Amino acid sequence: MNRTSSDLSTLGHRIRHFRTARGLTLDDLGEQVELAGSQLSLIENGKREPKLSTLQAIASALGVALTDLLSEEAPNPRAALEIELRRHQQSPLYTELGLPSVKPTKGMSDDALAALVGLHRELQRKATEAIATPEEARRANTELREIMRERDNYLPEIEDLAEERLKAAGHVRGALTHRTVSIMAEQLGLELIYVNDLPHSARSVTDLANGRIYLPPASIPGGHGLRSMALQAMAHRLLDHTRPTSYAAFLQQRLEINYFAACCLMPQAAAVDFLSQAKRDRNLAVEDFRDAFGVTHEAAALRFTNLATKHLDMPLHFLRVSEDGSLAKGYENDGLPLPMDVTGAIEGQIVCRKWSARSAFERTNRTTELYQYTDTPAGTYWNATQTGTTSAGEFSISVGVPFNQAKWFRGRETTTRAVSTCPDPSCCRRPPSDLADRWRDQAWPSARLHAHILSPLPSGTFPGVDDNEVYDFLERHSDG
Ligand SMILES: [Zn+2]
Repeated sequence: MNRTSSDLSTLGHRIRHFRTARGLTLDDLGEQVELAGSQLSLIENGKREPKLSTLQAIASALGVALTDLLSEEAPNPRAALEIELRRHQQSPLYTELGLPSVKPTKGMSDDALAALVGLHRELQRKATEAIATPEEARRANTELREIMRERDNYLPEIEDLAEERLKAAGHVRGALTHRTVSIMAEQLGLELIYVNDLPHSARSVTDLANGRIYLPPASIPGGHGLRSMALQAMAHRLLDHTRPTSYAAFLQQRLEINYFAACCLMPQAAAVDFLSQAKRDRNLAVEDFRDAFGVTHEAAALRFTNLATKHLDMPLHFLRVSEDGSLAKGYENDGLPLPMDVTGAIEGQIVCRKWSARSAFERTNRTTELYQYTDTPAGTYWNATQTGTTSAGEFSISVGVPFNQAKWFRGRETTTRAVSTCPDPSCCRRPPSDLADRWRDQAWPSARLHAHILSPLPSGTFPGVDDNEVYDFLERHSDG
């Protein structure tokens, strides 16, 4: 019959339940089924698996059907707690602690049993909750960035998967349409539904029971955001993601779904054709790549980092910098000295004031990319930077390459040049000595706390998402 210990435990409890209800002792019942009371006790305690013939004999002695004994339900609430306690105590989570197992004897009160089981449930919940301290989150981020740097930001398995799904959906060339994205979803047994009341903490919610992906309504008709979100939601499925049990796992999954969406929106073969031709023409420009595939400047720049080293033989870097000068996202495999803290984390670090990623904010005409050569302690780099605005403020997107690669890019003839000696503090962090002398004892600023530094990192079954909101939302929308 091959039963698990939990099944055996339930079976034992059910036999005991019917036996005591009939006022029989172990020996009484044992005699009727030709088994020693001690053997019957082992069966009732879930420690021995009875033969089918024995079970049949027990059932007829107790006057119940065999299926009554074999039911998977605990015979009463007390037994349910006892079964659950046994299951928890056998879990690796508990045995790892090296604590003794408690046997729920008759003398143990229902309250004591309920309290023990409650503690076990809480232990289980805490262990599976994807909680991350800020330190843990930063460490996980740094590790992932280093892994991707070793891979030149390129994931061939996901490239292949995306090409295969696109082909299956009939996509031939050019920008990916909403229609094709819907077909891709259909082929996975999923329907895309646009709603106005998504939980605030979720970008999309997938209802696995009813095969639906809920997305926000398009704020900009035809914008690339929706296609991307739908593709990301599908990617969880296609990549066989399971519930993330750590922040690192959560980050890895997020990277993979973003990567998949980017591969679909800018498919490898077409993108490499486009970029290779531009390179031959010495006219590479992220803005052209962006426009050819109908995506955001940031999406195009990031996609360029996936393909440039592998297919164009070009190391490079990518920066997303906020108007306060802090690095929101960064990648390099060209040796650009990114600002980092002692743990190697770069997020939130202030980039050099001399870099185009920051000087671009000072330009009055921002319709085109800013091209700039920057001398750094690691050599000279050429950069193209584009600025943009969100409700959270301005940001800049930069893609840059070492000097000897600039020749492939539009804007290589720029005469804008800067010298950066960061992390040397005299580069741009330390104020000029005359100003410092004048103001050192006269200035008394009051610091603004950065909310995001103190805000707790996401918790819940899915990091950053409020379970309550999500379940409530699904209740509202499901038919049953
Ligand atoms: Zn500097």
